[in-house]
Amino acid sequence: MVGIVVVTHSAVLGQGVKELAEQMTQGRVPLAVAGGIDDPEHPIGTDPMRVMAAIEAVQQGDGVVVLMDLGSALMSAETALDLLPPEVAAQVRLCPAPLVEGVMAAAVQASIGADLDTVLREALAALAAKAELLGMPLPQDGGDASAGAAAPVASPTAPAPDDSHELTLMVPNRLGLHARPAARIVTVLGPFGADVQLVRGERVVSARSVNRIATLAVRGGDTVTFRATGADAAQALKALAELAAENFGDIPDATGSSARPGGQDGQGTRGKAGAAGAPGAKGGVPASPGIAVGPAVWHRPAFDAPPQGLVAGDPASEAARLETALDAARRELAALERRTAAMAGKQEAEIFVMHRLLLDDATIAGDARQRIAERHEPAEAAWYAVIDQAAESFRQLPEGYMRERAADLVDVGARVLRLLTGAPPSGPRLDRPSVLLAADLGPSDMAHLDPALVLGIVTMQGGATSHAAILARSMGIPAVAGAGALAANVADGITVALDGTTGEVWISPAPDVLATIESRRAAWHAARQAALAGASRPAVTVDGRHVHVHANIGSPADAAPALLNGAEGVGLFRTEFLFLDRAAAPDEEEQRAAYVAAAAAMPGLPVVVRTLDIGGDKPVPYLADLAAGEDNPFLGLRGIRFCLARRELFLTQLRALLRAAAEHPLRIMFPMVAHPGELAAAKTLLEEARAALVAQGLPHGPVEVGIMVEVPAAVALADQLAREAAFFSIGTNDLAQYVMAADRGNAAVADLSDALHPAVLRMVRDTVAAGNAAGIPVAMCGELAGSAEAIPLLVGLGLDELSMNGPAIPRAKDVVRGCDMAACARLAERALDLPDAAAVRRLLRGGG
Ligand code: PEP
Ligand code: MG
Repeated sequence: MVGIVVVTHSAVLGQGVKELAEQMTQGRVPLAVAGGIDDPEHPIGTDPMRVMAAIEAVQQGDGVVVLMDLGSALMSAETALDLLPPEVAAQVRLCPAPLVEGVMAAAVQASIGADLDTVLREALAALAAKAELLGMPLPQDGGDASAGAAAPVASPTAPAPDDSHELTLMVPNRLGLHARPAARIVTVLGPFGADVQLVRGERVVSARSVNRIATLAVRGGDTVTFRATGADAAQALKALAELAAENFGDIPDATGSSARPGGQDGQGTRGKAGAAGAPGAKGGVPASPGIAVGPAVWHRPAFDAPPQGLVAGDPASEAARLETALDAARRELAALERRTAAMAGKQEAEIFVMHRLLLDDATIAGDARQRIAERHEPAEAAWYAVIDQAAESFRQLPEGYMRERAADLVDVGARVLRLLTGAPPSGPRLDRPSVLLAADLGPSDMAHLDPALVLGIVTMQGGATSHAAILARSMGIPAVAGAGALAANVADGITVALDGTTGEVWISPAPDVLATIESRRAAWHAARQAALAGASRPAVTVDGRHVHVHANIGSPADAAPALLNGAEGVGLFRTEFLFLDRAAAPDEEEQRAAYVAAAAAMPGLPVVVRTLDIGGDKPVPYLADLAAGEDNPFLGLRGIRFCLARRELFLTQLRALLRAAAEHPLRIMFPMVAHPGELAAAKTLLEEARAALVAQGLPHGPVEVGIMVEVPAAVALADQLAREAAFFSIGTNDLAQYVMAADRGNAAVADLSDALHPAVLRMVRDTVAAGNAAGIPVAMCGELAGSAEAIPLLVGLGLDELSMNGPAIPRAKDVVRGCDMAACARLAERALDLPDAAAVRRLLRGGG
């Protein structure tokens, strides 16, 4: 049955709506209320964690319709969708219908067993009856805001200058002008000189600023006006009209969350408020589950006003300094983004994309440049003032979600300020295990945290949706957010305890209270240790097949945490990360040290190092000459093709690998191999590198050589390749895009470039068969391998090894342990006979 969730600012209101609906349906419909927030003194508000818990409570596999009262309720519901596993989020519909009428109509339909779309339609039509009775027909386009192209409607209310051009439209995409459409507007306007403003009601902002657009909180179905002045104003508006007609780049009816497999796939942990245990607790927002006790250490972000007496150079040189710092910050963020995506998944990395957008925001950088030019301020002072002001205006916004973005702005501001002043990066520094206190922690602070020293985190600001909270959850650090002034006067060294599951914080707890908390902590710790201890056990199916579970890493530093998560080796070391975000390639010695470090962190365990896989979506500017200007980089000089064309570069890497293998056993894997000729050429170069080392008398070790199977040609020739390769590892990310002819990064074709498509699964089956026939192991290291939902199918397809990001490993192992080979093989057979990925997904969810 379709479930219904009511999101309201007031728990009492929500309860009343629930009672009414239950009365109408005799309580037959799964209906949950996410009402109010966990703050006894200010209980009015909405909380994404509550929305998420409510959705989980009512979802029974047929989908969930979410109805909201107003304002931040929508934001909270959207955020909850982002936090839910993609397969759950894909079955949730946010419904713009009026709350009371909508819930009643939806509940009645759901109670008679209607499907998700029918329930949604009924809710949307709920106001019609009332309107008819009042003799006030609804406007024609007032219904489903997710449908249809932008429709020009009435003129805007704000007065326009005489020479301005205007474009008025109804925002067609359901989520409105959220960050990505806003970024697209800014990008589309890039080539035009016109001054373009966005008008909503009485409010007018620059349409060239992602920040400013976001502050308008434009939703799907809202009417807005773009007002342009300047020589090319008409052309700028034409470009905007085209963008709007394309749904502002959003997929029609997109939920804002990808339905693609992989990533964290349900790894997220969620706290529940309320379970008070020991007295004296102060309340915060549960941000990351677990209990911590330890000495407090304050982290104060290094975003301090620059010294008063700072002397400015001439404006041109101050402006140049600012540009250099902005460029360097962009590079740092790109590196953080790639690292986080490889370590924790794409969703976690999105914050750094947002930070880059903030950096590129024309109004922020523009305001700073203007201060430098007009007031002759030093770059530091100008930048500080602009960020400080912008963050303050974010803090004043009524929407909690937007207020939390102030921390992101300060984080970006601090990064640029540090680069301007040349100060070293200042992540929280701890010299002993401590509870970290902070006004708020930005994602960059989090990326620098040493989880071994941070017992827990208490932030004064932020909420469950702040990125610090999301990252704390993925790092397994207990955290309480939004503790307000409660902990503000705590001095360093004072004992602080917290329960990230309930949101409780204790400052200097009395001995008896401390004893209670300690026993709770011990129980939590024991449970966690049991889970981690379980993680280190091999993943053996109920009938005794050992499926090896390995880690994908992007740097040597990722290996040790992966081991703690239970990795039985490294299945994919993406070495291109060593080459990105720098001015020149790492030399042989630097590479050797990196490969040795990764292998040393996995003592006695297999480590597969993939040779440089650049090109395609991973350009390296200082190596771009050969592949520059390609029309189709994904079909161009990528992976092994690039390396064979850059012989010296490749030889250096091969020498470094052979030398590292003298210290630790290593396996080498070549990416993007299409046919045996490439493998032979790469092996010839490997032997050339070895011969040179022999001639120089340098130590070198034996290496097994395998290939990634990610090009359809390699599957077709898998029998031939298997004779020359020691192992196969299937890269489903690329294999899916090449099999389906659908760009892996293009959301519009995400349904096609889906590794669960039977066309891709058949390629996996054929690769496994060729590997088995030749007696070589077959692994999978694409994102599909880490999808808990897909694992029984992959086990049934006969894969020997699954390699995935570290945090996904414990759950993946658990899923394998529940598998029965015969049942999994039957599942695989059925999946291979289905027509598309959606059908396979239904089968995996028990529905097909
Ligand atoms: C793949 O293509 O599945 C893969 C693991 O390689 P990458 O994602 O690095 O291209
Ligand atoms: Mg690949």
